[in-house]
Amino acid sequence: MESDFHQLEFQDGSHPFHRAHMEMALEEARLAESENEVPVGAVIVSLEKGVIGRGHNQREGLRDPTAHAEMIAITQAAQSMVSWRLDRCILYVTLEPCPMCAGAIVQARIPWVVYGCVDPKAGACQSLYQLLNDPRLNHRSQVISGVLADDCSQVLSGFFQKMRNNRKAFPKFPP
Ligand SMILES: [Zn+2]
Repeated sequence: MESDFHQLEFQDGSHPFHRAHMEMALEEARLAESENEVPVGAVIVSLEKGVIGRGHNQREGLRDPTAHAEMIAITQAAQSMVSWRLDRCILYVTLEPCPMCAGAIVQARIPWVVYGCVDPKAGACQSLYQLLNDPRLNHRSQVISGVLADDCSQVLSGFFQKMRNNRKAFPKFPP
């Protein structure tokens, strides 16, 4: 698999390897949506072992502010690797990671991060902070953005639209 990986030109976000794993992350995001969670999904692929972690946002269900898709996938992947270091792994996530998740990516030393749509309000890879490329930290990741970005953002905007419609259906009291 390693030689395949070198051939696939990692920086090309349109490569079928990236698209296939982002599709998997999107499946996770849709699972979150079906649980009335903000639909974000993540998948971690080891170059040696294949998919070793997948998760979706479960903040509401677990009543846990740290239960973002990436955190759940990272914990699973570390268990699978029997190591906190996720060397030679790629993290796929539908939305640009927040500061907490970008921090966890640095802690896990994940070398490659591929995400779908940007998060101008909370993104910590490119939008608000560049935590994965900060020379003051002891780890840097290669980042590719924009893989299946339209699908990734549509699943989010559809969810928030549905939430707004539901809210209208229940009039506030007092008005
Ligand atoms: Zn996060």
